[in-house]
Amino acid sequence: MSKLIPETGYKATFNKISAAILLIDIDAPLYTILDVNDAYLIATNSTREALVGKSVFGAFPANPSDEEAENIRMTIFSFEEAIRTKMPHTMSDYRYDIPIRGTDEFEERYWTTSNTPVLDENENVSYLIHSPANVTELIKLREKEIASVEALKNHRQQLYSTFMQAPVGIAIFRGPEFVVDLINPTLCEIYGRTVEEMLAKPIFDVLVHIRGQGFDQLLEQVRLTGSPFKGQGYPASLLRDGKLETVYFDFVYEPYREIDGTISGVIAVATEVTEQVTAKQLVEEAEERARLAVDAVGLGTYDLNLETGEMITTKIFANIFGFDAPVPRADYVSVFHPDDIKLRNMAHAEAVVSGQLFYESRVIWPDKSVHWARVEGKVYYDAASKPMRILGTLLDITAQKQAKEEQQKLMALVADSEQLLRNITTAAPTGLWMSDEQGDITYVNQTWIDWTGLCYEENLANGWLNSIIPEDRKRAGEKFLEDLANKNLYEVEFRINHIDGTKHWCVATGRPQYRNNGTFSGYIGSCVDITEQKNLQQQKDDFIGIASHELKTPVTSIKAYTQVLERMLLKKGETKEAGMISRMDGQLNRLTSLIGDLLDVTKINSGKLQFNDRDFEFNDLVKELVEDLQRTTEKHKLIEKFFPTGVVFGDKERIGQVITNLITNAIKYSPHADKIIIHTGVKNNEVSLCIEDFGIGIEEDKLNKVFEQFYRVSGDMQHTFPGLGLGLYISSEIIKREGGRIWVTSKHGEGSTFCFALPLKTKTKALRSDYIG
Ligand code: ADP
Repeated sequence: MSKLIPETGYKATFNKISAAILLIDIDAPLYTILDVNDAYLIATNSTREALVGKSVFGAFPANPSDEEAENIRMTIFSFEEAIRTKMPHTMSDYRYDIPIRGTDEFEERYWTTSNTPVLDENENVSYLIHSPANVTELIKLREKEIASVEALKNHRQQLYSTFMQAPVGIAIFRGPEFVVDLINPTLCEIYGRTVEEMLAKPIFDVLVHIRGQGFDQLLEQVRLTGSPFKGQGYPASLLRDGKLETVYFDFVYEPYREIDGTISGVIAVATEVTEQVTAKQLVEEAEERARLAVDAVGLGTYDLNLETGEMITTKIFANIFGFDAPVPRADYVSVFHPDDIKLRNMAHAEAVVSGQLFYESRVIWPDKSVHWARVEGKVYYDAASKPMRILGTLLDITAQKQAKEEQQKLMALVADSEQLLRNITTAAPTGLWMSDEQGDITYVNQTWIDWTGLCYEENLANGWLNSIIPEDRKRAGEKFLEDLANKNLYEVEFRINHIDGTKHWCVATGRPQYRNNGTFSGYIGSCVDITEQKNLQQQKDDFIGIASHELKTPVTSIKAYTQVLERMLLKKGETKEAGMISRMDGQLNRLTSLIGDLLDVTKINSGKLQFNDRDFEFNDLVKELVEDLQRTTEKHKLIEKFFPTGVVFGDKERIGQVITNLITNAIKYSPHADKIIIHTGVKNNEVSLCIEDFGIGIEEDKLNKVFEQFYRVSGDMQHTFPGLGLGLYISSEIIKREGGRIWVTSKHGEGSTFCFALPLKTKTKALRSDYIG
């Protein structure tokens, strides 16, 4: 239900509304003001009394100072239109000044006014709602805007014509392509192009040939960093009139910023300074040449008057003679080396005849040092052929003389040392060789030649390989190429045929060589005859082999007898004796295992260690062995930390031997610890086992030695712990031949962890890596 607003209510609304309103009667030509609201009174500085009941034109007379004001006529026209059409009529942005009450003054005002007819029940116009909106501020603002746009236009025009006529080259390059947005004729002239050729094209598309002369980078730098660049006397090669010219510029690159501060291009201002630069260069060059000709060479000059003996010399001349400044001729003569005076006098006598003076002489400086000087000169004669003057130069040749002497000494020395080296290399009981970076042999010494009977040339490139016996040749050659590729130290053992028909073992080593600039240049190496050692080693191996073999049989039968004896004693109830026999049996077990180790080593060294590979459950094997070994120690608890391992293909007994060995060592070398942890698991297609002990540990520098044959950590420990130093050697050989790896980590005094890993392989894929060649 709509609310009825009482008459007085509309009146209130009328007065409160913010639009200025005047209600006007249609009693032309008076147009009496019927009512007015507060907003109107405020807008026109009026009071209600001053307006209501008055003709609108009487209340607001025209401003007499505003000649152009046609506002009264316009207002009447608008009233008439509204009455005639019975539709609102609007007058826009017209001036109608407001009298300042109490004065004769007017205030300038602009209005946009609507005259809206209000109709009675007969559709006749009853009165007009006259509602002016004060747009003075708006109009003023607009005027100001127009004025400033105009000013800007003028400014632009001015700038543009300055720009076009400027005697310096100016251009604006836009965007990453440096499109020529604006360019003046001066710059076009410098570039040797017309404005049309340049405009709206990427600069480096037009001036293709200056790309790569650095300007593109400079522009890019200014565009990206926003910091200006100033270049002075910058050279550029420009194609002008079809000719490539070197042109010099002074120029500035400034970033071109948009109103929002972003850089959209680069402003370039350039002047050509080619003439200035070249002129300067010419002067400098000429000066330089002159200076070079005399000074830089250190030439002293002189002018000797033969009539008076007077001599004019330069400072350099004096310096060469050891004086700070020119001195009289006699002083110069006084410092000649006594041994050279005669030579000098002869040269002067000769000069008078030949017209040319030339000699080299020593002079002695005040500090007694001896210097060499070369004197040259030309003799001038008078009409009667009488020598008058000598003009010439003086040069300090001390350094040259010394260099020459030095060189001679060096040559002698080199010759000597070459001979010495040759003697040494020939005398050495060692083969010596050199190769280039491709691995081609470039030198072998006489010893090698004497051994092999192949002449020097036959050994070059890869000829040396022919001396190696066929069985070892491939291995030696391949190892060399491999080490060469990696620039590694080369070391290999092989057998060579001597000219006398004997075979000899050699160990060849080669050190990679590098030039001064760090590039690889090849190898220098040696070949040492190790036949003797090899023979001794063989004898030792043979002996161990025979001895251990011979020991095995009696020990086996002793063991059998002790077992029988033990049983017999137990039967008789002689337990004490039986206990002694049992301990004897324990010692016999140790003896058997030592003999076993010795036999294994012999087999390994002769390449006869047999393997019997099959599938077996890895963890089961470890478990079995741990149980057995737990019985051998009361002190240590063997803790199993097993992860599933699955089936391994290998020699179960041999691998078991390795595990036993590692656990036995762990027990042996941790006498004060109470536990040993055995880890198993699978990682990266490998089964691994680690034995962790908390014993004496191994010093870091000994770590990688423990797997060597007969190696035992020496020192006080050696006698504390029995052993031959073979267990780890045998273990590592077994693991390597099963295709696996074995390693140790240890901390001295804290304990060691010995590990091995074997590839997870099935029977079908099984491949024994050919470890021992
Ligand atoms: P052996 O034990 O007979 O001396 P091995 O080849 O088994 O020979 O071991 C070589 C050497 O490595 C030993 O002499 C010992 O010094 C060191 N070693 C081996 N296992 C351990 C370990 N678990 N802790 C400390 N040192 C060890």
